[in-house]
Amino acid sequence: MFDYLIVGAGFAGSVLAERLATQMNKKVLIIDKRNHIAGNAYDHFNKDGILVHKYGPHIFHTNSKDVFDYLSRFTEWRPYEHRVQASVDGQLVPIPINLDTINKLYGLNLTSFEVEDFFQSKAEEINPIRTSEDVVVSRVGRELYEKFFRNYTRKQWGMDPSELDKSVTSRVPVRTNRDDRYFSDTYQAMPLRGYTYMFEKMLDHPNIKIMLNTDYHEILDVIPFREMIYTGPVDEYFDFRYGKLPYRSLEFKHETLDEQLHQPAPVVNYPNEHPYTRITEFKYLTGQQHPKTSIVYEYPKAEGDPYYPVPKPENAELYTRYKKLADETPGVHFVGRLATYRYYNMDQVVAQALTLFKKLSATKEVVKLADRAPVKLNGNGKAKTLNGVVAGISSNGKHKAD
Ligand SMILES: Cc1cc2nc3c(=O)[nH]c(=O)nc-3n(C[C@H](O)[C@H](O)[C@H](O)COP(=O)(O)OP(=O)(O)OC[C@H]3O[C@@H](n4cnc5c(N)ncnc54)[C@H](O)[C@@H]3O)c2cc1C
Repeated sequence: MFDYLIVGAGFAGSVLAERLATQMNKKVLIIDKRNHIAGNAYDHFNKDGILVHKYGPHIFHTNSKDVFDYLSRFTEWRPYEHRVQASVDGQLVPIPINLDTINKLYGLNLTSFEVEDFFQSKAEEINPIRTSEDVVVSRVGRELYEKFFRNYTRKQWGMDPSELDKSVTSRVPVRTNRDDRYFSDTYQAMPLRGYTYMFEKMLDHPNIKIMLNTDYHEILDVIPFREMIYTGPVDEYFDFRYGKLPYRSLEFKHETLDEQLHQPAPVVNYPNEHPYTRITEFKYLTGQQHPKTSIVYEYPKAEGDPYYPVPKPENAELYTRYKKLADETPGVHFVGRLATYRYYNMDQVVAQALTLFKKLSATKEVVKLADRAPVKLNGNGKAKTLNGVVAGISSNGKHKAD
């Protein structure tokens, strides 16, 4: 009998597995339908031996000392400040827009004070600010909006910024100084040996069993547990009772090139040309020395793995209905980006999971989901499930390159 079945071995599930096992001595089974731990943060050495992020670049940044200290138990860090350039009007310029972006783009030599006047002279008065277009046009004007934001957003979301909630572009700052860092958080660093290694450390405990290649439906009736922590899509848990929550997806095209370095920045955005939105070169992120280099192209698309919840009022309303169902489901805790239908960064998911852990450790009452017949795991670490699927269980979740 497991105390907890945790569905999903990403940040949300793995943080909770670690806390419950080490702090409350709970017996935990963590499962994932993918063939690896670490969720979307999964990284691995490709066949040329270069460390790449399978699901696109993941840059760690946070203002939370608690989150940074917590993760520091499982990894050392490599200091890393992320930088992005955008290809606009035939040249590469810093994004977020800063003083250098404007001077380079327009062949000017403005100071910080002058560039603020420049923005103000271009900005349009919009009241109230409702959409992503409103946010940008009211800050820097229509021309820069067209050059940097309009087409990028259309590619990324399949919608015009005028149809999207203001939250999407509000995340991108505009600077009057020369700071070209993508993030301004207090803690900016990459796990020294990669994310997957950090997850292996997190899950390395005798109370934690890991089962990969397994959808939770396959084991629900055969492996007994007391409570569930669910980090998958909330609409899927309720069999899409009210319809599907819309997500935007991505296709990643990975490539290894026979050259030391491919581009002049870790990420280059292409707002206006090409069907892809950006190219990331991993060696900048990881600091790895290698005679070859690996890059990834991101092609946004409507169908596929759920990556970005689409921030529109009707979707938020639909989620509210699912949240009500989730709140009324005893013995199941919904946590993480898919289960709460929010775009969260990694640090926010860690914080959300730590908060849930505090709540769980404060609650003494144990809710029993149902009486389930115990199932035997055989000697070679395989569990035979009812519908005949055999899933591998390991106690450390070691991943292999793919
Ligand atoms: C392209 C991209 C780039 C990103 N870049 C950054 C970044 O630079 N910095 C940053 O902080 N954040 C970034 N993020 C966000 C980051 O990926 C998330 O914050 C984080 O992965 C969320 O963790 P999670 O545990 O909630 O979800 P996930 O990592 O998605 O984990 C959920 C897991 O549940 C599993 N699962 C789902 N359904 C089932 C089921 N039925 N049965 C079994 N298992 C199931 C899934 O396979 C998945 O592994 C990025 C996201 C994307 C899409």
